[in-house]
Amino acid sequence: MTEQVAIGIAGVGKIARDQHLPAIAGHPGFKLIAGASRNARIDGVHNYQNVEDMLKAEPLVQAVSLCAPPQVRFAQARAALAAGKHVMLEKPPGASVTEVDVLAGLARQNQCTLFASWHSRHAPGVEAARAWLAEKAITAVNVQWKEDVRRWHPGQDWIWQPGGLGVFDPGINALSIMTRILPHTFFLKSAELFVPANRHNPIAANLDFSDALGTPIRAEFDWRHGPVELWQIEVITRDGVLRLAQGGKFLQIDAEVVDIGPEREYPSLYDRFFDLISTNASDVDVGPLQHVADAMLLGKRHEVEVFEE
Ligand code: NAP
Repeated sequence: MTEQVAIGIAGVGKIARDQHLPAIAGHPGFKLIAGASRNARIDGVHNYQNVEDMLKAEPLVQAVSLCAPPQVRFAQARAALAAGKHVMLEKPPGASVTEVDVLAGLARQNQCTLFASWHSRHAPGVEAARAWLAEKAITAVNVQWKEDVRRWHPGQDWIWQPGGLGVFDPGINALSIMTRILPHTFFLKSAELFVPANRHNPIAANLDFSDALGTPIRAEFDWRHGPVELWQIEVITRDGVLRLAQGGKFLQIDAEVVDIGPEREYPSLYDRFFDLISTNASDVDVGPLQHVADAMLLGKRHEVEVFEE
């Protein structure tokens, strides 16, 4: 591997511009050399309409970061892996659980790195919460992940289409943290999904999980909330209550606020991608997506009022 990894980015929209482009620009290990997007252009690099054209025209690209909606993730990732490129997947890593397993197999076959990224796991409070909870006896978990869909997803039709996850698009961030910090594997017992009469995917969901010890774990996701978002996980233990709030940027244990340092989710994701490439490793955890699939399997659907932008 050369000192800097030449990288291309695909799907230049909100998250690519807000987070990926600045994180790549600030990372000494990566050099952005190309973009692939049907409409958008990135200044200062070569731009292509799609991943296939980029791969054909840019043999020096070593890695590709995929930031389009999940419905097109598999085809883009397959093309990049088949061309021998390392691939980073935005969350969720696919539109189905099994297609991500297939990608992991392709990565192994082609000796490439595949990184299924979960940006919320890189929030500054997550590892501290995991460490504190590791030996604790947990009696209950309450999760609230609520925001205003009109504020966070204006004009994004794909979130309402099959594979777009609806309220699980943000909710999967909570699931990615829960699966990281809770010491025991948990599983869905029942779910209620609230689906607008004119849409395919839920606008809200209530999920009841448990683990082998019978711990009650409740998660409520809602897109009809505002104006201030509520992204918090509360874990009640015999030794005190842990509260991870603001999506993982704030950690409190009982009355004490824990100093966890600044937020640097996306720089940290690119650190991880660079380390994985450097060590010929992959990191593919479908756990959070599996919980969403389970909710779609078990969930009782309730029709709610139509949603218009
Ligand atoms: P977005 O802005 O709606 O989409 C990103 C770009 O993907 C679009 O601008 C579009 O660019 C391209 N695209 C859209 N549909 C496509 C299609 N059918 N085929 C090929 N390209 C397509 O969405 P986003 O908010 O950036 O989210 C993208 C992914 O990042 C999602 O998986 C989301 O969960 C994740 N994410 C989003 C956020 C956030 O705050 N928005 C945060 C973290 C993670 P062109 O029209 O130029 O092709």
